[in-house]
Amino acid sequence: MMSDDAECDKKVTKSESEWRDKLSPEGYHVLREKGTERAFTGAYWDLKVNGMYRCAACGEPLFSSETKYDSGSGWPSFYEPADANSVAEQADHSHGMIRTEVSCRKCDSHLGHVFPDGPPQSGLRYCINSASLAFEADDAES
Ligand code: FE
Repeated sequence: MMSDDAECDKKVTKSESEWRDKLSPEGYHVLREKGTERAFTGAYWDLKVNGMYRCAACGEPLFSSETKYDSGSGWPSFYEPADANSVAEQADHSHGMIRTEVSCRKCDSHLGHVFPDGPPQSGLRYCINSASLAFEADDAES
């Protein structure tokens, strides 16, 4: 996805009460409180339709179905972001683990984690909560 328009670099910032009004309770918990949905319960872990997975909070395109694969984890898994600039990664030492958190660069919402056990295309597994994503099928615009 192109992001050369300066407008695309604008941050989306809302107060937590505004996010709470905008998002579902589960969406708020995952996106704004860094929650994790239970495996095999989300809307997208087993979805195999062509399209774009956007940020459920701000709508930024984050992951393409072209990079989605079945990791067996019970969460939507991708081997790379749609655009390297669309996600931010930072160390996460919570829950007694050393992990790399993935968040939406545009609105700073939590998406999931990235692990170094992905398929050969990148060696990376972006393990993302369905609750953090809003899927848009390719034929939705035709
Ligand atoms: Fe976002």
